[in-house]
Amino acid sequence: MPSPLASPAAALADQGIRWVAITWVNHAGAPLVKVVPLAAVDAAAAVGVGFSPVSDAFRADGVIDPAHRLARPDGDLRLRADTHALALLEPGAGWAWAPGERFERGGAPYAGDQRFLCRHQQERLQQMGVELRAGFELEWLVAVPDPDGQPVPAIPGGPYGADRLVEGLDYATALLEAFEAAGLPWLQFHPEYGAGQFELSLAPGSPLEAADRLVLARLLIQRVTRRFGGSFGWRCSFSPKPSLERVGNGGHLHLSVQRQGVPLLQGGDGPGGLTGAGGGVLAALLEELPALLALACPLESSYRRLGPSSWSAPFQAWGVENREAALRLIPTADDGAAAHLELKVSDLTANPYLLLGAVQVVLLDGLQQQRPLPPPLSGDPALLPAGQVSRLPTTLAEASVAFASSALLRIGLGESLHGSLLDSQAAEVRRAAELSDADLIAADGWWPLVGGLV
Ligand code: GLU
Ligand code: MG
Repeated sequence: MPSPLASPAAALADQGIRWVAITWVNHAGAPLVKVVPLAAVDAAAAVGVGFSPVSDAFRADGVIDPAHRLARPDGDLRLRADTHALALLEPGAGWAWAPGERFERGGAPYAGDQRFLCRHQQERLQQMGVELRAGFELEWLVAVPDPDGQPVPAIPGGPYGADRLVEGLDYATALLEAFEAAGLPWLQFHPEYGAGQFELSLAPGSPLEAADRLVLARLLIQRVTRRFGGSFGWRCSFSPKPSLERVGNGGHLHLSVQRQGVPLLQGGDGPGGLTGAGGGVLAALLEELPALLALACPLESSYRRLGPSSWSAPFQAWGVENREAALRLIPTADDGAAAHLELKVSDLTANPYLLLGAVQVVLLDGLQQQRPLPPPLSGDPALLPAGQVSRLPTTLAEASVAFASSALLRIGLGESLHGSLLDSQAAEVRRAAELSDADLIAADGWWPLVGGLV
């Protein structure tokens, strides 16, 4: 018999927790939730709570796309709380949070579950002696709605400015306290370049930990912005492009990789100190970037962010410390910091489990089949003669074609998950086709508020 304290419920009750919010992230990138009373959390971990597979047919605005293969009334799944990853959401008010994963009623993993993909790929890498460490950076805008409901920056102060930190110091305190209470490990927090924009860098962990932390961080930021700034009407926006005039919000992904305990991105004689195997990983990611983009930048408005000279890095290139290359190698140096790669194109509408699941598929392939690595990019690609550096897809439709034709991702994700993602991409392309650029940006301006301000 396990001791009573081995049960998450007993340990949480001691901390004043009464409810657990179990989230999973659908194909449209939206976190969905079921809440259980603390007394039911052990059952929610072992058996799960009901969730219909139709939720992956939701578009970014919450509408169910009728042409989606999952838009049907039958079937049911069980969302199980992963209580190993449980964290406190708002402990003072009795709330905890756990990421969830969906299983078939018979107990088998649901092959279409995004977190299952990430976990399964992580286990495959581990079996090969490969360890991937990952961490996201989150950028968001703190804003109030203008008379048309569009976000207007709410906290004054300049780019990276201590003036903005001090103007918003009580907000920053509330945020950092919430991260601390939740046990969310973070590395850095700062006012970003854009007006009213902030950034949080999460500490690296396993791919599953990185994705779970991103989900929790977004919930905490959304909650604190609302709680703290509610009386001023503040909300946060993680939209990739909250307005056409201002810089966008990225969701850059940092990656480092070791095999049998040996780091692959440093200590070699390739450019920036890459080893041969590290170069293989980079070359595979580079080749698959157009296809990966459909997961890293899944909304049509994501592509309005991806302009040159905005450090959103929309070029199919890699570079050593080059902020316009989609893959930026940050080499090790005398300060001893470990080398890592930054995928700069991704934004926060990406489902982090899908993105990291797919990145792991590509990474493993890059270790198994060596591709030639092109030379690194230096300087600003926008200033080079046209055609010298390939632009990544400039629309979701284009990225989706690359995703559809990637045999590697089709096999790695499995036919059913790959196919249902294609349906979601087609649904998003159709949604956007009915909107002007301005209306599209306005519709997604308060993401992750699905459906916008009502
Ligand atoms: N805001 C930029 C983006 O859209 C990134 C700025 C930076 O390099 O941190 O990704
Ligand atoms: Mg940034």
